Amino acid sequence: RGPSRDALLEGLNEPQRAAVMHEGAPLLVVAGAGSGKTRVLTRRIAWLISERRAHPGSILAITFTNKAAAEMKERVEDLVGKRARIMWVSTFHSACVRILRKESDKLGYKSNFSIYDAADQKRLMTLVCNDLDLDPRRYQPGALLHWVSNQKNELRDPEDATKDARNNLEETYAAAYTTYQRRLREANALDFDDLIMATVHLLQTFPEVRETYRRRFRHVLVDEYQDTNHAQYALIHQLCADNPEDLDSTEERVEPAELMVVGDADQSIYAFRGANIRNILDFEQDFPNATSILLEQNYRSTQTILNAANAVIGHNKGRKEKRLWSEAGDGDRIVGYVADDERDEARFVSEEIDTLVDEKAARPGDVAIFYRTNAQSRVFEEVFIRTGQPYKVVGGVRFYERREVRDALAYLRMLVNPADQVSLRRILNTPKRGIGDRAVACVQALADRDRIIFWEALQRAEDAPGLATRSLSAIQAFVAMVQELQSMVDAGERADVVLESVLARSGYLTSLEESDDPQDETRLENLAELVAVAREFAEDPLAGPSADPTDVEAGIVAPGLADFLERVALVADTDQIPDDDPDDQGVVTLMTLHTAKGLEFPVVFLTGLEDGVFPHARALGDQPELEEERRLAYVGVTRARARLYISRAVVRSAWGAPSHNPGSRFLDELPVDLVDWRRTEAAQAQWGRPDLSGSAGQRLGAPTVAGRRNFSAAAVRADAAARAKPAREIPSLEPGDRVLHDSFGMGTVVALEGVAEKAVASIDFGSEGVKRLLLRYAPVEKL
Ligand code: ATP
Ligand code: MG
Repeated sequence: RGPSRDALLEGLNEPQRAAVMHEGAPLLVVAGAGSGKTRVLTRRIAWLISERRAHPGSILAITFTNKAAAEMKERVEDLVGKRARIMWVSTFHSACVRILRKESDKLGYKSNFSIYDAADQKRLMTLVCNDLDLDPRRYQPGALLHWVSNQKNELRDPEDATKDARNNLEETYAAAYTTYQRRLREANALDFDDLIMATVHLLQTFPEVRETYRRRFRHVLVDEYQDTNHAQYALIHQLCADNPEDLDSTEERVEPAELMVVGDADQSIYAFRGANIRNILDFEQDFPNATSILLEQNYRSTQTILNAANAVIGHNKGRKEKRLWSEAGDGDRIVGYVADDERDEARFVSEEIDTLVDEKAARPGDVAIFYRTNAQSRVFEEVFIRTGQPYKVVGGVRFYERREVRDALAYLRMLVNPADQVSLRRILNTPKRGIGDRAVACVQALADRDRIIFWEALQRAEDAPGLATRSLSAIQAFVAMVQELQSMVDAGERADVVLESVLARSGYLTSLEESDDPQDETRLENLAELVAVAREFAEDPLAGPSADPTDVEAGIVAPGLADFLERVALVADTDQIPDDDPDDQGVVTLMTLHTAKGLEFPVVFLTGLEDGVFPHARALGDQPELEEERRLAYVGVTRARARLYISRAVVRSAWGAPSHNPGSRFLDELPVDLVDWRRTEAAQAQWGRPDLSGSAGQRLGAPTVAGRRNFSAAAVRADAAARAKPAREIPSLEPGDRVLHDSFGMGTVVALEGVAEKAVASIDFGSEGVKRLLLRYAPVEKL
């Protein structure tokens, strides 16, 4: 029983078949994006089970994500049935956990060891810094952890690190590593990097254990091999190399497992996590009798998309030239759009999706939106929430659920409502300011005794029984800070101004800025986003995260902090959208370029193509980093099957100061005839929109001869779309004027603030109450 030979080889070209049927020597399949590497790997597993009678339990297949593992398993099960279930298809980390749960006693761990995530690691390393009395200005836990992680990826234990320390700094780092590792052990815990390193050590130290697994895994297959680090390479080597050095001559030799790895050096995008591109480049040296197979035909994308990908990646130096081709035909040209700002960009994307869906050219589930950094998802999320477009954010927490965003909002909530205990307690010692659990307990005791709220008890902390002097002064400093911030709120200060003061005064920003942890950099970006949201809200409450369209219609204006928080709460609440809608149309997918690896979508929007955004600012002056960014661009472009959109914003807001970014240099690397620019910066000027390009943004998004040909019609359409926002004649009013409002009826103007676009009128509508209305939107007519 089982599938026929033909069924297993169906839909494969010659070199693909050769890879599936290959026997014996280690096999490397190198090929560009979309050439069927993952398909070949999956088919080969089915082939091994079905044709070569391999026991499913003897197969170990490694994927880059758990999701990819689940999909691969499902595909194999479809082909050969349920017995495939017992094979190991997983990430490196999951495979190592399985091995370690069995063998951990040999390494001195109990089998119920904990696995520490990033937050746990951070907490632990902070303790270590205290243990060693390290100067917090010189040694941040994040930086120490990053260093430790690199050591582990290189399989260097604390002794190696200590022995090789060349100066004071390295000695201190090594000491921190030593203590950190000791504390992990005391907690019976392993961190993520340990999982791999400990498994390698296990196999190296206990040949009999290694032989057990070598005997067990007769077939090892690795997808995305270009992104393996040294420790992962060593693990593969332990299982598959011909002659493990230390094998006792009396022991029975086990034939090495058959190894197949697939990858694409042009898609190596995790160097910052220790991935080593040399692993794939040196495969033939590492496994001397290796064979390699090249795949060149792409089955995913149109030739237009491939030409774009080839052109961009061609700018990287020292790579093996390979040219992808496809039989899918040229397909549509790439669509380009230069937006005024990130909101305009999101609106363009949203409208374009609507059009595709209306014309039945795509379902929402066919569409993916990529961006360089997590924070960029926010504007898209808000536009989709407003238009009711279901979406999901893959890999990465939704914006309003992120820790730093919740922390910042907790500060604001607590300022508005000091009785909000949850918020108050959340930030009481965030960032750390010396108000520990003991101090909190003392204050709580006071609150209980005198039956007062926690905030009041904090203000009277000197009465708290048993409170240490140090804690008392920490609490008093905190109370003073909160009172100062509250007075800003009472004075009616704008939400963005309050938020910026909160982040600065609380020390929250400083604690992130001083850290070298790359995650903290992301957190800063997210907070910058939140400040931008608040600023936008303060300046134009209707453009903010409005979840209530009736507000927009009625033109109710409420720019205070409390209203801002309410709007945000609503957005955060409607955030819970189910993954799939009942009509099985799927939902639009948002993700960073890094998470997009290995996936494909009929329609792809590649957004934020600006120098300083993508490529990332950090990479602008650094050739290797720039090349990694370019590989990321190559990954992004090659995810698209039929339609690719590229866009950028002339102005992008962050931290209150909008920045004018020139177009991404990757745009200039695209052949001009491939792109149909729906809108360029030139279009903006020509069609009378405010020219925001400033002096920094002069470089055009490569307007092309071909682009100009159908320029005017497209530009008019794009311009009309961009103006979809309601705009109306602003009535000129004076206090005392009588007005008629579409829903509130007759009213009398009592006060006016702001001018022109920003003019706000307070109008007394009698029984409807006094409303503050932004006149640009409010449907009022002067009588
Ligand atoms: P990436 O580098 O992005 O991971 P890949 O090399 O792993 O890409 P796959 O995802 O395996 O490529 O394949 C790309 C697409 O082409 C998939 O939709 C796959 O089903 C299809 N495909 C692969 N080989 C063939 C073939 N011989 N005939 C038809 N379709 C194919
Ligand atoms: Mg793949």
